[in-house]
Amino acid sequence: MGQRGDTTTTSAEAPTAATDVLIVGAGPTGLTLACELLRRGIQCCLIDRLNEPVQTSRAFDIQSRTLEVFEAMGIIEKALEVGMRAKEARVYDGEKL
Ligand SMILES: Cc1cc2nc3c(=O)[nH]c(=O)nc-3n(C[C@H](O)[C@H](O)[C@H](O)COP(=O)(O)OP(=O)(O)OC[C@H]3O[C@@H](n4cnc5c(N)ncnc54)[C@H](O)[C@@H]3O)c2cc1C
Repeated sequence: MGQRGDTTTTSAEAPTAATDVLIVGAGPTGLTLACELLRRGIQCCLIDRLNEPVQTSRAFDIQSRTLEVFEAMGIIEKALEVGMRAKEARVYDGEKL
């Protein structure tokens, strides 16, 4: 899978007439779509206006619905293996718990 700024998910080459789907946006939605298309043998081209990944964390925690999607994709075991399980979380609004 290419990083943001790449012209394609399958190679560094520019998209050709053989590309079936153009995906605009290499965030989690675009990357997941690219994975699912490629798993089904559908060629796609993934583009993003950013030349490199953002430097701030946007995936500190993975929600349960995402885990369900991972399970459907067949990657749940690997995700749990490399992730850390949180036993509890506290959400603050200013000083208020
Ligand atoms: C600070 C922060 C922390 C977060 N923490 C968490 C977390 O811990 N857990 C969690 O589950 N979620 C978290 N989120 C939310 C999560 O990041 C979003 O839900 C997720 O990124 C949405 O994915 P997306 O692919 O739909 O959109 P995005 O991640 O926004 O990706 C869209 C991509 O499309 C590109 N793009 C947009 N318009 C164009 C265009 N016209 N041409 C080319 N490219 C374009 C953008 O550059 C971007 O790369 C956080 C978000 C923020 C901001």
